[in-house]
Amino acid sequence: ATPTAVMVATGVGANHGVLVKGGDALERAQNVKYIIFDKTGTLTQGKATVTTAKVFSGMDLGDFLTLVASAEASSEHPLAKAILDYAFHFNFFGKLPSTEDAIKKRKQEILSQWLLEVTEFSALPGKGIQCWITGKKILVGNRALMTENGVTIPEEAEGFLVDMEMNAKTGILVAYDGDFIGLIAITDPLKREAAVVIQGLKKMGVHPVMVTGDNWRTAQAVGIDDVRAEVMPAGKADVIRSLQKDGSVVAMVGDGINDSPALAAADVGMAIGAGTDIAIEAADYVLVRNNLEDVITAIDLSRKTFSRIR
Ligand code: ADP
Ligand code: MG
Repeated sequence: ATPTAVMVATGVGANHGVLVKGGDALERAQNVKYIIFDKTGTLTQGKATVTTAKVFSGMDLGDFLTLVASAEASSEHPLAKAILDYAFHFNFFGKLPSTEDAIKKRKQEILSQWLLEVTEFSALPGKGIQCWITGKKILVGNRALMTENGVTIPEEAEGFLVDMEMNAKTGILVAYDGDFIGLIAITDPLKREAAVVIQGLKKMGVHPVMVTGDNWRTAQAVGIDDVRAEVMPAGKADVIRSLQKDGSVVAMVGDGINDSPALAAADVGMAIGAGTDIAIEAADYVLVRNNLEDVITAIDLSRKTFSRIR
């Protein structure tokens, strides 16, 4: 392709919200063989909502939610935000102000009165969180976190968990003072265009793969054939490197802070949505509309710009 053709293609992309950083990246996209998608915030809307909470101890459900919300209050994770919101609405019966900003402020005020004091908080990426409340250790997260800490999940709870996971929900487990005390089901719907885009990529001869820190069953329920579940944040780049071994061109689509190493490791890194600054820096493409159709637009644009001239 001539420099002019590259310039034209870059302009066409920009008009569609597909920003490409240079001619090399534009050229590489035509040969993509594997395309790796992050799940949360990339294939899904990134709007996690709690659907159910269940206590498996004598504890009152409202108290259970306040306890878990207290532990999650220091976490930045979308799952944590969903839990705080649910705990708030479960326990609050009063009137809220009418504007969104005022509601947010009022919620924060009320929560700060309710929430219990937390010490020694730590986030365990890909697993959950851990901290101390009223002199006892609380763990909130996935199975790996429970197993690591020697917490046994009762059979009845395991049944519930499997059920929610088969419905594409993420089950968050809670242990307090060494005992399993309850679980919370969270859903994060797929983006509307996700299924169509996955089909479209297959028709173009591109093999879609999903990587997620989420559990295997929830990941399966999303509907991509090739799934790598329970991958720790650093492991996403390893998945890419292993696919590159035979010389295949690998693209990665992701949004979050955790995805930056993978975006950088990919031959074609695509940051989707508002993303984080780090993710945008590590990427070759920025898909500003937060629409997965633009992944196809990007590959199409590269193919149209380069393949005719070969
Ligand atoms: P993804 O790869 O889908 O973006 P993450 O790597 O962020 O997911 O998280 C993987 C899993 O770790 C989550 O599905 C959840 O089970 C657990 N987890 C992570 N952070 C938290 C948290 N703050 N509270 C509870 N569970 C968490
Ligand atoms: Mg993510």
